[in-house]
Amino acid sequence: MTSENGEAGEDGFWLYDLKVETVIGDRPPVCRHIPGESFRVEGENLVFEPGQKVSMYALAALLPLLPAKQRETSAHDWMTTDAEIACPDPHCGGRFRITRAGRRFFRHSETTGLPDKRGQPYWAGNKDEDTDP
Ligand SMILES: [Zn+2]
Repeated sequence: MTSENGEAGEDGFWLYDLKVETVIGDRPPVCRHIPGESFRVEGENLVFEPGQKVSMYALAALLPLLPAKQRETSAHDWMTTDAEIACPDPHCGGRFRITRAGRRFFRHSETTGLPDKRGQPYWAGNKDEDTDP
């Protein structure tokens, strides 16, 4: 178990895992949006279970928001309270519900590109040890 700020003297940060699930809004979908289909966001990775799909146009609308949803935000920030993102087609009822799940701890030295700060990349180690349920 890693403390809130990482191990003593450890330079790191927490990111939420996310679940992005297709839901339908107040009008029918135009694109292929199947309610209940989903993918997860774990660190920098999008994780799809077999058979799960997402429109590349919808994904393009979602991608800029995912890093912010991974991070701790103020309770009053709309990024905290607003969880559904609309498909970019204005005629489409497709929505994507983003929910925060467990958190993962990342060490700066394992994620930075700065040569003087760089260590072993996080993905080369065992990341399962640094997760909150
Ligand atoms: Zn759509």
